[in-house]
Amino acid sequence: MMEKVIVITGGSRGIGAATAYLAAERGYAVGVNYRHNHGAANAVVEKIRQQGGRAVAIAADIAIEADIITLFETVDKQLGTVTALVNNAGILEAQMRVENLNAARLNRIFTTNITGAFLCAREAVKRMSTKHGGPGGAIVNVSSIAARLGAAGEYVDYAAAKGAIDTMTVGLAKEVAAEGIRVNAVRPGFIYTDIHADGGEPNRVDRVKKGLPMKRGGEAMEVAKAILWLLSDEASYTTGTFIEVAGGR
Ligand code: NAP
Repeated sequence: MMEKVIVITGGSRGIGAATAYLAAERGYAVGVNYRHNHGAANAVVEKIRQQGGRAVAIAADIAIEADIITLFETVDKQLGTVTALVNNAGILEAQMRVENLNAARLNRIFTTNITGAFLCAREAVKRMSTKHGGPGGAIVNVSSIAARLGAAGEYVDYAAAKGAIDTMTVGLAKEVAAEGIRVNAVRPGFIYTDIHADGGEPNRVDRVKKGLPMKRGGEAMEVAKAILWLLSDEASYTTGTFIEVAGGR
């Protein structure tokens, strides 16, 4: 049987790291992409190797097209043909109202969260599509419930970028459905990771948790489990759809 090869953007921390661990456990060779944090990426790779899995850490800024091309070429050489992509890397910036946003920030948010995900999907489809002689595969985009809630007063730009990811999920799924590729997304809610500190509020999940239906925040591994299900053969007739991992929010 051909080895399953997964690329996880932003696999060094948070939801991406949890997904890397679970994917390794499920038999994937794992490409752990990251931007700056070598230490965190290497720790994920080391832990996977210690447990008998295969993984490599690959630095690439998904806001840069040339970096994305190199990322996928590195995976070709070091792991083999990619059969699964998790478009997980995503950023947000300081909480503020739309009236205070500027073009430079919007471009950073949209370039990483939208353009980066599109270009990673492009590289994956080129390799997976049966139309090009590929083996097929599956893509999971990491969106957010912010796509439907809007993140008012916090980061409407980030929420809008996730809205674009949702639409890309639906459109790309239909485009490649007859070529052996499924495309789905998860929409996490309030998950304990470092991302909230980037918005200026490290304790955001604990602040809001009492207002959530389940009265608690989510763990990265709870999101990873939904991602791995969507990637698996268990989801063989599922494409162009969404799993919310948000405790009922
Ligand atoms: P996180 O803990 O902040 O981790 C972000 C990861 O993305 C890190 O591995 C980081 O690499 C990487 N990264 C950031 N910018 C990158 C770039 N330009 N190129 C390559 N890698 C980059 O984030 P998280 O909370 O796990 O979020 C993961 C995804 O879930 C994001 O798309 C986010 O929008 C989404 N999400 C999160 C929540 C939540 O509550 N946490 C809710 C809904 C959706 P370095 O380690 O090198 O910095």
